[in-house]
Amino acid sequence: MRKKNKILYNKFSREDLEKKNAVENFERTTVSFYKYVLIDDPLGLREELYIKWAKLKINGRIYIAKEGINAQLSCPKPKWNKFLKSVHSTKGFEDITFKIAVEENQTSFLKLAIKVKKQIVADGLLDNEYDVTNVGTHLSAKDWNDCINHGATVVDVRNHYESRIGHFLGAIKPDVDTFREELPLIKEKLKDKKDEKILLYCTGGIRCEKTSAYLKHHGFKDVNQLHGGIIDYTKQVQENNLENKFIGKNFVFDDRLGEKISTNVISTCDQCGTSCDNYTNCKYVDCNLLFIQCKKCKDKHEGCCNNDCKKMSNLPKDEQKQIRKARKRPSLNSFKKSIRPKENITERNINT
Ligand SMILES: [Zn+2]
Ligand SMILES: [Zn+2]
Repeated sequence: MRKKNKILYNKFSREDLEKKNAVENFERTTVSFYKYVLIDDPLGLREELYIKWAKLKINGRIYIAKEGINAQLSCPKPKWNKFLKSVHSTKGFEDITFKIAVEENQTSFLKLAIKVKKQIVADGLLDNEYDVTNVGTHLSAKDWNDCINHGATVVDVRNHYESRIGHFLGAIKPDVDTFREELPLIKEKLKDKKDEKILLYCTGGIRCEKTSAYLKHHGFKDVNQLHGGIIDYTKQVQENNLENKFIGKNFVFDDRLGEKISTNVISTCDQCGTSCDNYTNCKYVDCNLLFIQCKKCKDKHEGCCNNDCKKMSNLPKDEQKQIRKARKRPSLNSFKKSIRPKENITERNINT
């Protein structure tokens, strides 16, 4: 085991990071990219990239595994060319392409975090359950629209809290919290459609790589996937003036929690029921529940999911710490990432 080098990790508190980012005098570009490629020494690559990217003031969340890299990050615009060079000069990364976010935001990531993982997307699959070199056909936005018009089955391979605020009209949207649960469920839902045209989509395309390989392995004959995911679809729709078949918001895994794709708002506030698609995490840190909250409710409940959390978050920090310590499980929602629209949020009891 290599010794952890202290310099290679973020050491600032959230408050300090927010202050630091607020005084930046340059703009940032938010991008994501991934590649399935054999990486011999993930830890070595992690340290190499951390040193290079910290220097360029890159913020983001990057996973490196033996099977490849998966990154979401924001790069200062003046450093963009240097960043491109650092990626394309890395062995195996020469042909990586980037998906640039539609909405620019200075604060999409607060710090740089590069983690070595077992897989770049946690899917729970065994190696013999798929062949990543045998994936579905990649479709451009135009071909994707054509296939939908011809009645192909569309499947959202994201989690329920993602499809809740935005999706392709008529898509199958599995009610799951994780990608692990997703795969067997999709296979089950599609079991009578092994000879039909299947269209898969996700945020940036990475989950479709595994899903399409998995479905093909299980005998599905006509598996297709949206090239570059919703992010690239939106770009192609705008650039080529195509019909936009995606309604609502694209959920993104940074501090923005969503990117507007169409003007429709397809979800409602979990507290008052008015039309809203703004996700938030409960302000009480021990809860951190992901839910939809409108501006009015945000003010009324001080950013919390219910009164108990509001009371708790107003206690002195030390007292909160004591309560957390006395509880057996690490956090209130360690088994529950987000709520379902049908649940009554005010009835959740934080002491249970
Ligand atoms: Zn509300
Ligand atoms: Zn809460």
